[in-house]
Amino acid sequence: MDQSTAPTAKTPLVDPFQRAISYLRVSVTDRCDFRCVYCMSENMTFLPKAQLLTLEELDTMCSTFIGLGVEKLRITGGEPLVRKGIMTFFDAMSRHLASGALRELTLTTNGSQLEKFAPDLAAAGVRRINVSLDTLDDAKFAQITRWGRLPQVLRGIEAAQKAGLRVKINAVALKGFNEDELFTLAAWCADRDMDLTFIEVMPMGDIGNEDRLDQYWPLRDLRARLAERFTLTDLAERTGGPARYVRIEETGQKIGFITPLTHNFCESCNRVRLTCTGELYMCLGQEDMADLRAPLRANPGDTEALEQAIRAAIRLKPKGHDFDYSRQVVDGKMSRHMSHTGG
Ligand code: SAM
Ligand code: SF4
Repeated sequence: MDQSTAPTAKTPLVDPFQRAISYLRVSVTDRCDFRCVYCMSENMTFLPKAQLLTLEELDTMCSTFIGLGVEKLRITGGEPLVRKGIMTFFDAMSRHLASGALRELTLTTNGSQLEKFAPDLAAAGVRRINVSLDTLDDAKFAQITRWGRLPQVLRGIEAAQKAGLRVKINAVALKGFNEDELFTLAAWCADRDMDLTFIEVMPMGDIGNEDRLDQYWPLRDLRARLAERFTLTDLAERTGGPARYVRIEETGQKIGFITPLTHNFCESCNRVRLTCTGELYMCLGQEDMADLRAPLRANPGDTEALEQAIRAAIRLKPKGHDFDYSRQVVDGKMSRHMSHTGG
């Protein structure tokens, strides 16, 4: 390992609203083997490979953030597991788990490659993963992901559990699409001892002919539907993230809600997002970003300029995002796709 990227104790990152930044989400590729209708258009143009940070550069970036107090790293994309050689990167990050500087190394995946990689992920020190799954119906799965096939993902989830990884399912709540699967999805997760979180669809990127307002199923409606059948207790539990949790008293199952549209969670935000080209987004729902690739590449072997650029960026972290559908138009829309910033 390059000693210049070994984390050392430094003043931690705190933004202007006194939020400590301890969580970095890293999109390691903008590419994907699926084309989910709410995430991408079918004919996506991807970045030329030369623009991407190399795996070594990703290592330096992440190690520098860890040196500045980041304790949790989530690897995402695009589909992180389609990036060539990505296991080398996971293996490299495991040294920060071993040193105790990093408390958690995790990933968000569509599950398509898990059958192949689950044991390696577990060996690298990954303990929990999020798998995105919106439906348990073969035909609907093929429809929503366009290129994905459900059995492959189900085999991946099984392999992950077999490898000892704790799996959380993330499902985007989609009007008229998975409303009828609310109870089956919850029961399926409960049977397999997996937590389940629903996400409201966000206005990220151009998605071709699809209409956001047609897709949007507010989670307050979903919750009300759950409450018709079950007793729900709000849990105080917070992870510093956007999810709010309820417990279903009848089954003990925990269900999470990520409600960027109907609820604002920005006051406790502890995270920033690095893209695969080295742009740092201080907020998923704002356009402000800082280019970290330039200071990284201008000073090989010396991370001082990179650290300064990171600190300068954190000083610009905005108070929150402005997504809003309430006036029956899509407000606060971002031009970039979720797969670019990393969902
Ligand atoms: N490919 C991986 C996956 O699907 O899990 C990781 C990247 S994906 C962009 C991360 C998460 O973002 C997924 O759970 C996906 O459902 C979600 N997502 C993508 N576009 C979204 C949107 N417009 N609104 C809400 N969630 C979205
Ligand atoms: Fe790929 Fe994930 Fe986007 Fe679906 S949500 S297209 S799996 S990046």
